[in-house]
Amino acid sequence: MPEAPKTSAENGHFVVDENNKKILQFIEEVTTNADEVQQKVLAEILAQNAHVEYLQRHGLNGHTDRETFKKIMPAITYEDIQSDITRIANGDKSQILCSQPISEFLTSSGTSGGERKYMPTIEEELARRSQLYSLLMPVMSQFVPELEKGKGMYFLFIKSETKTPGGLPARPVLTSYYKSPHFKNRSPDPYTNYTSPNETILCSDSYQSMYSQMLCGLCQNKEVLRVGAVFASGFIRAIRFLEKHWPFLCHDIRAGTINNQITDPSVREAVMKILKPDPKLADFLEAECSKDSWQGIITRLWSNTKYIDVIVTGTMSQYIPTLDYYSNGLPLVCTMYASSECYFGVNLNPLCKPSEVAYTLIPTMGYFEFLPVHRNNGVTSSISMPKSLNEKEQQELVDLVDVKIGQEYELIVTTYAGLYRYRVGDVLRVAGFKNNAPQFNFICRKNVVLSIDSDKTDEVELQNAVKNAVTHLMPFDAHVTEYTSYADTTTIPGHYVLFWELNVNGSTPVPPSVFEDCCLTIEESLNSVYRQGRASDKSIGPLEIKTVESGTFDKLMDYAINLGASINQYKTPRCVKFAPIVELLNSRVVSNYFSPKCPKWVPGLKQWNNMN
Ligand code: AMP
Repeated sequence: MPEAPKTSAENGHFVVDENNKKILQFIEEVTTNADEVQQKVLAEILAQNAHVEYLQRHGLNGHTDRETFKKIMPAITYEDIQSDITRIANGDKSQILCSQPISEFLTSSGTSGGERKYMPTIEEELARRSQLYSLLMPVMSQFVPELEKGKGMYFLFIKSETKTPGGLPARPVLTSYYKSPHFKNRSPDPYTNYTSPNETILCSDSYQSMYSQMLCGLCQNKEVLRVGAVFASGFIRAIRFLEKHWPFLCHDIRAGTINNQITDPSVREAVMKILKPDPKLADFLEAECSKDSWQGIITRLWSNTKYIDVIVTGTMSQYIPTLDYYSNGLPLVCTMYASSECYFGVNLNPLCKPSEVAYTLIPTMGYFEFLPVHRNNGVTSSISMPKSLNEKEQQELVDLVDVKIGQEYELIVTTYAGLYRYRVGDVLRVAGFKNNAPQFNFICRKNVVLSIDSDKTDEVELQNAVKNAVTHLMPFDAHVTEYTSYADTTTIPGHYVLFWELNVNGSTPVPPSVFEDCCLTIEESLNSVYRQGRASDKSIGPLEIKTVESGTFDKLMDYAINLGASINQYKTPRCVKFAPIVELLNSRVVSNYFSPKCPKWVPGLKQWNNMN
């Protein structure tokens, strides 16, 4: 099977064009021979893992062919392997899912029972992830030349990590990657020449990390050709940070010193290697930042920037207007599609509009199958689908090269690290083909109604959270008759808003502090990724409850029926996105309340923390 050529120094100096050509050739080959590559990937995974307990349990008996695999192995969700995962986490070193030792768990932002999912991974997967990264810049360089002549200002962060009872690290996939030698000791490559020194990225204090990365980005502003973060929300947070802290940053640039709040010695040392007193630059930055309007601030401060590299597909599309405002409409580039389970693919037409982004799944990354999703009135039927597929649905699974243009599918993956026919939970639509490999629009994460950053809240979680909160209203004989929610991204960071219509029978009005308690109870009831975003990452703002005039939800129904909804089938949507509906709700707000403090959050699974 073709291997992506390594991005490396050749004979002491880097041959950018040569390397780019090799990478593009690799993409041509694997997309042309997509089916053969897929068959080989599956055979390799099954041969390597022929003796693992999981495959034996299902009776695969060492078969490595596609037909037997499809006949015997069930398509599964996390819950189906949770007990295996728990055994591995608790220190069972036998070959349960994978013949190679599980090196760590990647904590997915997808949750199960309110807790993060723990995805097993193996050492060699790091190389596979690096391989996908190595495809990005050669693709980009076809559209924007000479990027190797400058730097990328990327705001990259590590998040807190924990250890399982058996001693394995458990952390987000990017934290794992940034801490690995693949990232830390990357060979000199003009395409991974970032303004942020490794030490600033690897600093676990998020304030110090952000401050020092921004400082380095500002003092090298002329060299910056592209800017970005992983998700749009993260990049906007960085701009917001600048809005708050530019006087200190300018002071540091003027004096060539670093603020005392930055105490991490390795960060200070790394920054001081870059920072030189530059009063002229400080004057310029001060003049720009103190202007009333921050429109176009990115192009004003980093004037050579060609594009913003952030994911704006899926729920992140809610941030496009803000990015457009700050950048005066620079191209927004979504380069890749990946998850903790597996890295999937790349966007081969990176300058396309965000609404047209299509990811080409790279057939060497894992073995991909697709479950057709049938939509009914804009609602995916899979929402109500049982978690285990019945035999018919199982037979409906199609291979990578057999998907049909325009059809939507749920992605199912088999990985080198021990997931077999695992339902990722993403819904994709086939937009076209690159040779024989399909290109997919990312449609949505199944069931997710609210998301600000990497949090993913579903309708059931929201319902339970509201149920817990309304108990505070009981002493006042007040009830929530209807509710809906909205992800408000006009604030930075964004926050969840709940619209409540109340029926108050008691004579004592409900005091504001009680509504604030309701806000906090909702937050305490939401999943661990949400609570981490609030309490640790500060990537989500305090939850807000807005009470609305009585009759508001009837108006909402009238509106939907006017738009063609059937009166018999109408159900209050538990989340609203459509601007006129949000406007309607906002126009009838009586009062609003915010969560007074952060919900509790500790790293690791609840049961591990109870053991201590
Ligand atoms: P995690 O497992 O926490 O790394 O999250 C992976 C999930 O993030 C994927 O399954 C998608 O739902 C979402 N995601 C990753 N990349 C993209 C992308 N390019 N566009 C939209 N959603 C994405």
